[in-house]
Amino acid sequence: MAANPSAGPAGEKRIMCVGLVCLDIISVVEAYPAEDSDSRCVSQRWQRGGNASNSCTVLALLGAPCSFMGSLAPGHSADFIVADFRRRGVDVTHVAWQPRGDVPCACCVVSATSGSRTIVLYDTNLPDVTARDFERVDLSQYKWIHWEVFISKDLAQHLGYQSAPEALQGLHSCVQPGATLICAWAEKGADALGPNGELVHSDAFPPETLVDTLGAGDTFNAATIFALSAGKSLQDAITFGCQIAGRKCGIQGFDSIV
Ligand code: ADP
Repeated sequence: MAANPSAGPAGEKRIMCVGLVCLDIISVVEAYPAEDSDSRCVSQRWQRGGNASNSCTVLALLGAPCSFMGSLAPGHSADFIVADFRRRGVDVTHVAWQPRGDVPCACCVVSATSGSRTIVLYDTNLPDVTARDFERVDLSQYKWIHWEVFISKDLAQHLGYQSAPEALQGLHSCVQPGATLICAWAEKGADALGPNGELVHSDAFPPETLVDTLGAGDTFNAATIFALSAGKSLQDAITFGCQIAGRKCGIQGFDSIV
């Protein structure tokens, strides 16, 4: 039976993740195929994807009442996605339903040999949530709203940084004084810069076999937020983030990360 999203222990505040949800069509292959080749995959699945959506999945699995806020357009993909949110007990009250447009879809190739994930996203330009949508949220019900505060390795590399500490030091001056910056870096683990400028690091927790790294960053973000919102220190939070993300890398999907 689907869990009731409002059924957290009485008075427990929720965590909201704002951002992308999309349909992931995932092919698991023995090895990444050559261009213009014709091969068979080991398995194939549809999965609810997108950064904020994946983070909600992980938060729900960790036992945190959570809500997703992002855009969807009615249709088959949205039916699949909403059913999956409900199955996980993620509240979808704040989905911004768009009258037209298509739900984004990502074709993902996961290599069973290396665990790598190669993603091709069809970004359909579905209108994003607006400030007006956000104004309807009763903030008193939430203890944490996640937008984009975490810096991904992809973004850091795009900006020319070669490591997480380098990215944190470089971007420190771009954020408000007192802000916390967090940057995960695949098998190098994660680093964070605290409000007083202190740098903390956690090594990665590699699984015995790397199976599927799709959503590792989203898992790290969710687990770190889960720990921070429970009052853990920055060091403990990124260590927990790396532990759960490492576990995720050892399995397909998210089902048994906890
Ligand atoms: P993404 O590319 O999904 O944004 P990252 O690759 O930066 O995310 O990984 C996020 C977290 O997942 C890392 O901090 C680490 O804890 C874990 N992780 C990712 N890849 C590996 C790996 N190859 N080995 C061990 N842990 C990993």
